[in-house]
Amino acid sequence: MQDTFKHKGLRRILIDELRTKGIVQEKVLEAFDSVPRHFFLDLAFEKQAYTNIAFQIGAGQTISHPFTVAFQTQLLDIQKGDKVLEIGTGSGFQTAILCAMGAKVFSIERQRELFIKAKHIIDKLKFNPKLYFGDGYKGRAIDAPFDKVLVTCGAPFIPQDLLNQLKVGGVMVIPVGEGAIQEMKRIYKLSETEFQTENFGDFSFVPMLENTK
Ligand code: SAH
Repeated sequence: MQDTFKHKGLRRILIDELRTKGIVQEKVLEAFDSVPRHFFLDLAFEKQAYTNIAFQIGAGQTISHPFTVAFQTQLLDIQKGDKVLEIGTGSGFQTAILCAMGAKVFSIERQRELFIKAKHIIDKLKFNPKLYFGDGYKGRAIDAPFDKVLVTCGAPFIPQDLLNQLKVGGVMVIPVGEGAIQEMKRIYKLSETEFQTENFGDFSFVPMLENTK
């Protein structure tokens, strides 16, 4: 697959759309400019890669809307060198955006098929996150603590392990809810036992599931 001027032009249009929808952090928009989203979709969807819609990426899962990816990334206020734990690698697109912003990314995916596919594309684009096949509910205690935790599937509750693995002063962005709709939450870890939560409205993610394999 190639990244052509046409693709770059389509990215500019998408970036303008994200801007009008409230994505104001230039570093987020710059990352969207630099990551070829069409690499993360099956060839059949190449032309639609830069429209603001979600797609099937295999194993019954979807790549998040560009706006959702941009919104979650903006809420995290990523700084260069941030250690970020992502739950739900999926296509790997969000992972690539975080890498493009200079974060050190650890990402967990529970579907082997997607883990393998994402790894292939991420390697091809020469990004360097640590990708794991496993259960996101458990996080990565061995690599903790993290500056930021990003959950990209709908969590029925806030997993305690993920709160534990967040640095004091760190922030987690997580869509929480049991049904088809979740509430986007940003949680600041004030001390080992104190948290402050803000809500950012309704979103719809595929559910966060326990690993059974
Ligand atoms: N960040 C992804 C979003 C993909 S959708 C992207 O940019 O494409 C959410 C992903 O979360 C799916 O791939 C799904 O398989 C995964 N997922 C669901 N429950 C999980 C869990 N417990 N641990 C890790 N990944 C999980």
